[in-house]
Amino acid sequence: MNFDLDEIVIEERCRPSALAARVIRRAPATVPVNFIADAREAIRPASDAADPFGAGKRRMVVMDRRAPFLMTCPAGSSEFACCGYLVLVLASNCPMDCSYCFLQEYLADNPAFQVYANYANALDELERARRRTPGRALRVGTGELADSLAFDRMTGISRDLVEFCASRDGLLLELKTKTDEIDNLLTVDSRGRTLVSWTLSPPHVFSSSEKRTASPADRLAAAARVLEAGYKVGFHLDPVIAYPGAERDYLALLDDLFDTISPARVAFISLGGLRMTPALRSAARRRHPHDLLLCGEEVLAPDGRYRTFTPLRASLLRALERRIAAASPAITRYLCMEPPSIHRRVLGEAPPSAAALGAALAGR
Ligand code: SF4
Repeated sequence: MNFDLDEIVIEERCRPSALAARVIRRAPATVPVNFIADAREAIRPASDAADPFGAGKRRMVVMDRRAPFLMTCPAGSSEFACCGYLVLVLASNCPMDCSYCFLQEYLADNPAFQVYANYANALDELERARRRTPGRALRVGTGELADSLAFDRMTGISRDLVEFCASRDGLLLELKTKTDEIDNLLTVDSRGRTLVSWTLSPPHVFSSSEKRTASPADRLAAAARVLEAGYKVGFHLDPVIAYPGAERDYLALLDDLFDTISPARVAFISLGGLRMTPALRSAARRRHPHDLLLCGEEVLAPDGRYRTFTPLRASLLRALERRIAAASPAITRYLCMEPPSIHRRVLGEAPPSAAALGAALAGR
């Protein structure tokens, strides 16, 4: 996939880094590469831009990260049954532009696409976390504030990460993507310690709401290739968006998935309904006024997010859960950011603890 860039900005102190050298070498000839003394000057939103968040997606800033790289998953809270994994922040923002993306709110004041040249420090943090928890499997993902593989052909970060985890017991790396940028992955032996997960949506949602992402068919084809190369694969049907015909479309998507990849080789499938805070909903409707899928009549839920009316959402998720279980009851299924009441309606039981779910996912 080729993502358009208007500019690449490199912080002077990062100029000697391996990452900056790779980005400079692989940058398209038409994209100017500029240097700046302090990158914090370059990551403020352009006040004159009509859509500062959209403009930030086209401006890559290579800089040092001043904060820790390792965080607990921001989705985790006492209200939600969460899978309890760790997030490694290696980049911030994404060149793709999904209408529902929470980054439109989360990064609204800081929208430049940042890639961190000092990511070797992230591996040191990960190693320290691993040593602090001997005997326990850690799941760590890079796809929370950015797509894990977007621009990987320029940054090459995935190779270092996969090789790092391949040589250490107790780590399972999860790369999460909506791209088909897998060429670097195919050159590394993951030793089964990296799982690549794709968020999947029906073609109708892809064309309406997921600008510049790989098509659903291309995502599945990429998943089949990394599986054959020795990686594990998982899938997120999240967000599931309710619209007329949604159940038919999402069931057809599951059929496509299981026609491409044997259910026995799917590590997990997560499900979660569309949810948006009022601020995200306003930003999304402002930035994507032609996306009819954002015009549903969601209900303000007790957690302060707009969600699909509960009976409709539970019915849709339940239909998908049944289809997955029919394909293989052994596939680990879980709900993301859904309250316990929805767990009981969809999965027929209370949510597992974060530790139990994390252990189940780490063992897949
Ligand atoms: S691919 Fe993910 S991170 Fe990128 S815009 Fe879409 S939802 Fe956001």
